[in-house]
Amino acid sequence: MLKLNQVSAQYNMLNGYVKAVDKVDFEVRRNEIFGIAGESGCGKSTLLKVMYDLIQYPLEIASGSVEVHTSDRKGTPAIYRNGEIHKSWWKDISYVPQGAMHVMNPVTRVKNQFFDTISKFHGVKNKRTLEHEITAYLKELELPPEVLKAYPHQLSGGMRQRVLIALATFLHPSIVLADEPTTALDVVVQRGILTMLSQVQKKLMNSMVIVSHDMGVHYQITNRMGIMYAGQMIEIGPTDRIFNEPKHPYTQMLINALPRIGDNSQKEGIPGTPPSLKNPPAGCRFAARCPHAMEVCRIVEPERVNVGEGHYASCHLLN
Ligand code: SF4
Repeated sequence: MLKLNQVSAQYNMLNGYVKAVDKVDFEVRRNEIFGIAGESGCGKSTLLKVMYDLIQYPLEIASGSVEVHTSDRKGTPAIYRNGEIHKSWWKDISYVPQGAMHVMNPVTRVKNQFFDTISKFHGVKNKRTLEHEITAYLKELELPPEVLKAYPHQLSGGMRQRVLIALATFLHPSIVLADEPTTALDVVVQRGILTMLSQVQKKLMNSMVIVSHDMGVHYQITNRMGIMYAGQMIEIGPTDRIFNEPKHPYTQMLINALPRIGDNSQKEGIPGTPPSLKNPPAGCRFAARCPHAMEVCRIVEPERVNVGEGHYASCHLLN
């Protein structure tokens, strides 16, 4: 459904380039939830913008391509590439941005936000018919139709997030991209949002990409996932394999740092900080923090190695 071919993206700043995404290569399959994990500043959200073709200065694509594979109204296969993916926004690919509080227009009722978005991208429909369709869809998602009359500030954080998910999936897109959909929500509301996303995906049988720094989110909801570090995707595979058999030292340290019920051992964080993406180091970008770093790691960039069953990692230890 979605294919990234060696994509690199950068921010063109006054004093140089920040290379936020480096040669990222993977695909998202039909009828799956794909997770992207990594610590803050590793390039996850930039990657999502690149997938959505939301390229605005100072962000630019340096190399590679993104493809959205879909079909037209007659069922004929169609491919949108970066630079034209915006033509398929909302209908074929949609986006749930980070921060439900800030992305909705504070002076417009929810109903009009639906009307504006849908008519902007897909032509004006009869408003009464459209309102009936929106109300029916909200009911399907177990949202009260009264939210349509509300202004964003009258809704709780969880309800705003649900409304955004409903808006993003109203036209039944083949691909939904969600950026940190549970951030800043308490754990009970988080669970409700994850359940909703999972139910919507099952109902539409589409593809979803969830970006989150929270490994618990990936464990609960994703089928496959990729781990990003300093702009690169250093490990990718089925979620259960990533959690049970992580191969890259960074992923192993991430998983070991997670709390587990019944485990009272002292958890250790990952020492050090990621490198600057303005001038990333040669070789493996994790070398300065890796307990297994060898001489070769500081000179030669590790290649991606197949470690079994659709599971890949980039580390010299695996060669
Ligand atoms: Fe560590 Fe070397 Fe593997 Fe990088 S390539 S993760 S530095 S062992």
